[in-house]
Amino acid sequence: MTEELLSASNRARSFVVERLLSNRISSRRELDRAKGEASRLFPLNRYLSNAEILAALPPDRRKTFGDLLRVHPRRSASGIVVVTAFSAPFACPHGTCTFCPGGPREGTPQSYVRESPGMKAALLSDFDPRGQVSTSLEKYASNGHDISKVEAIIEGGTFIAVPLDYQLAFVRGVFDGLNGSDSTSLGEAQGRNEVAKSRCVGLTLESKPDWCEPEQIDTMLVYGVTRLEIGVQSLRDEVLAQSNRGHTADDSIRAFRAARDAGLKVTAHMMPGLPGADPQSDLEDLERLFSDEALRPDMMKVYPTLVVGGTSLARQFEAGRYTPYDLETTVELLSEMKRFVPRWHRIMRIQREIPAHEILGGVRSGNLRELVRGGGLLLLRVREEWKGSRLREDEASLPRGSQSGDGIFLHREGIEGLR
Ligand code: SF4
Repeated sequence: MTEELLSASNRARSFVVERLLSNRISSRRELDRAKGEASRLFPLNRYLSNAEILAALPPDRRKTFGDLLRVHPRRSASGIVVVTAFSAPFACPHGTCTFCPGGPREGTPQSYVRESPGMKAALLSDFDPRGQVSTSLEKYASNGHDISKVEAIIEGGTFIAVPLDYQLAFVRGVFDGLNGSDSTSLGEAQGRNEVAKSRCVGLTLESKPDWCEPEQIDTMLVYGVTRLEIGVQSLRDEVLAQSNRGHTADDSIRAFRAARDAGLKVTAHMMPGLPGADPQSDLEDLERLFSDEALRPDMMKVYPTLVVGGTSLARQFEAGRYTPYDLETTVELLSEMKRFVPRWHRIMRIQREIPAHEILGGVRSGNLRELVRGGGLLLLRVREEWKGSRLREDEASLPRGSQSGDGIFLHREGIEGLR
């Protein structure tokens, strides 16, 4: 940036900051107007970002204007920010599932491509967990988010199957990133985190169902894992075999049992449209996921099968031996699924974040969530709407529902049309 532009930026920032401090900006609309005025006056060929305005405020006033300047406020609306750390590329213990992209040959963790969200930072840091966590926290803080409570998610391949030394060093690195200092052992890092500025309030791991045996769950507990994402994908052994999943439906049931016995929250991953499945069998699987007491996950991610370049499934697709579901079938299936999803259940995602140009077949549409929502599916985001301006607390009713056993699910609802 030239000196002239730099000084124009400084003056434009000071202009907006002065308006904030003199209470002449109280809404996002007024903020946008002030930013536009600053760009014209000084002049700048761009809009100031909220992050740079936040950085220009006196440190003791940043919290006051946090609500106004926070970028993507929903990312910390629950009071917790989520940071992801990708582990280095390791092959999965059973080989490779036919639909799974990435992996050691591509230089990425199994299941992720180079352009997957967050992968750029992971590659730049050479999969250093401390670097990934620190970068993520710095970004949240500069965008005005409170980073005192953090859920850390470890992603990539089958982490619990990689060499134990690597696992220990990686998890320690995640805690070091939260603590902002190096430690010599996992226990030391966890101890420091109890009084750190960014406390780990949740640690999530992904695993295959056959890698959730009680002894593996015990290891996860040593790491501090609180939530386990289990790749169920299908409840039919013939479908699992066709995709080279290396596990059975019974393995999923055992995995749920072991995770529950250890007090972990369970997120199920389901993949409608795998080879050998059809919309009816997928719907039956989804119904069983909630009707079978041995399953019933707390949360779910539904990833309609995508054909990603370079995978074994891509070769089947190109040879005409596999046809993925089209958009209409997928939307209909996910909308139908609503009938089985209990009120307490959280659907976290309904689409994988794979760049569109990597997808050879399957639903590329970036607005699948909206299309399905139009069909009546209630997503986690909708359940959080009460934090926004559309609902005042005194407008909400407080219905009550039961999950199972003695658990009571309390939830506040008030938006018309919310079931
Ligand atoms: S277990 Fe998961 S990460 Fe490993 S190959 Fe299968 S889908 Fe990919």
